[in-house]
Amino acid sequence: MRRDPSCIFCKIAAGEIPAKKIFEDDEILAFHDIHPAAPVHFLMIPKDHLPSLADADESDAPVLGRLLALAGRLAREQGSADGFRTIVNTGRVGRQDVYHLHIHILGGPSPLPRMIAKE
Ligand code: 5GP
Ligand code: ZN
Repeated sequence: MRRDPSCIFCKIAAGEIPAKKIFEDDEILAFHDIHPAAPVHFLMIPKDHLPSLADADESDAPVLGRLLALAGRLAREQGSADGFRTIVNTGRVGRQDVYHLHIHILGGPSPLPRMIAKE
């Protein structure tokens, strides 16, 4: 398991910083975003320190697949019964703030604002 001692999400994964956890197993953690941008807003991370999606390779495929495969169940459990938005900000261009790969799950009872204007 890779770990960056200065990484805030590694510290959350290690239990050194508190977080409102909603799911945990040996390689995945999901917890509420500290600044929710929607009625449901949680983050899913691999416990292994992978800085961003730009750093992922084929060896990361199993855990990345598991994260996506779990998202729907956790979103439903959190109150997003009819869909959700999945965001992975990556690097400078993607305006990533925390360099430990994380998937944002945003949802709630009502449709979110559109992200990209149509027409
Ligand atoms: P990014 O811009 O890197 O995709 O998103 C980082 C997210 O992590 C932000 O939505 C921010 O609110 C959240 N975040 C940053 N620090 C903490 C923290 O210490 N605890 C929790 N629960 N969320 C955090
Ligand atoms: Zn980390």
